[in-house]
Amino acid sequence: MSSVFLVQHSYEQDDDCHCEETKFIGVYSSMTDATAAVERLRSQPGFSSRPEAFFIDEYPLNVDHWSEGYVTERDGISSPASGSGKLPSPLRAIFVDVDDTLVRSVGTKRIPIPAAIAAVKKLHRAGVQLFLWSSGGAEYARRSAAELGIESYFENFLPKPHTYIDDQPVHEWRFCKHVLPGNAEDA
Ligand SMILES: [Mg+2]
Repeated sequence: MSSVFLVQHSYEQDDDCHCEETKFIGVYSSMTDATAAVERLRSQPGFSSRPEAFFIDEYPLNVDHWSEGYVTERDGISSPASGSGKLPSPLRAIFVDVDDTLVRSVGTKRIPIPAAIAAVKKLHRAGVQLFLWSSGGAEYARRSAAELGIESYFENFLPKPHTYIDDQPVHEWRFCKHVLPGNAEDA
């Protein structure tokens, strides 16, 4: 056995807080066993009304799934996790596009892109900071996230920049890479 399969049931509550409700279902030695666990639960009360909220994630064994330090936020102010006075490596921040990345518009119809949406949820569960931005503006990004039921997964909503002021162009940024929506899960 080189990896295990984690099953969770996770969704955003419909009330004002938009809190995420996550149930840890179990850890299984194969995808078949994990899928069978989902099948056993999917007709049970509660689960039956949100069958789309089951997630199966594969985790290789003996691998660190958290490899950086962390900062504790109090009243929105970040403080170093250790007393060394040196900030730990920044947490990963991923900026996600709206149109043709999470949702496609055909005429007046809006068609969600399930694989990219699932990837957003997975990255969020992995502790990545997510920002949603759009050339349609911050409010459009927020509305789109609400429409797709994933508003709580994002730290914030932004317009896409028209200009950025920086001593280096984006392709020289050491830790910045472009990932296509189809590969979002590996971002
Ligand atoms: Mg786009």
